[in-house]
Amino acid sequence: MPILPIYAYDHPILRQQAHPVQDITDAIRRLAENMMTTMRNAEGIGLAANQVGESQAVAVVDISGVEEELLRSKFNVPPMVLVNPVILAYSDEVSDMEEGCLSLPSYRDTVTRPEKIQVRFYDLTMREHTLEAEGLLARVIQHEIDHLHGKYFFDYLSPVRRAMAHPKLRRIQLGQVTTEYPLFTAKQQRASRSAVRRSYHS
Ligand code: ZN
Repeated sequence: MPILPIYAYDHPILRQQAHPVQDITDAIRRLAENMMTTMRNAEGIGLAANQVGESQAVAVVDISGVEEELLRSKFNVPPMVLVNPVILAYSDEVSDMEEGCLSLPSYRDTVTRPEKIQVRFYDLTMREHTLEAEGLLARVIQHEIDHLHGKYFFDYLSPVRRAMAHPKLRRIQLGQVTTEYPLFTAKQQRASRSAVRRSYHS
């Protein structure tokens, strides 16, 4: 199962609305499997399809390796593939937690989000599920669904916090970050574009 490069800030696909999946094809199943492998390789707990360059409403979540005190739930949550996920309801209760993102390496900040959600999604057999999630699971699902709507976690921060993050975001954009997983940065995007131009003119 190949490990896919993870698209970094500020690739345009990360600001786009993902297309709803019409049908579970072999390509979608393969994408979900590759996303699972890619997420685990990067030691992430969630990944959205546009983070690997596919504008499809598919996300994977696996918090099974997270320590219990962070989970705030008593049951084990199996790895999940969420196709066309929609949040149906949010709790009024909110919580703060530090978040990171595989597309934003070496940048973390505290994000306030609803503590509980009700989410509807389809699995890879196109069976519909409605899930009540709370704590870390609710947070990861919200973070991934945000990606599918072209949103980053820093969009929730105050203008001051965002301004403080600007140098870090700039470094990511310039590819001045090192990761333990393959990253597709804006710098590489420019290089591949100029390679195309060169071959076009030759
Ligand atoms: Zn993310």
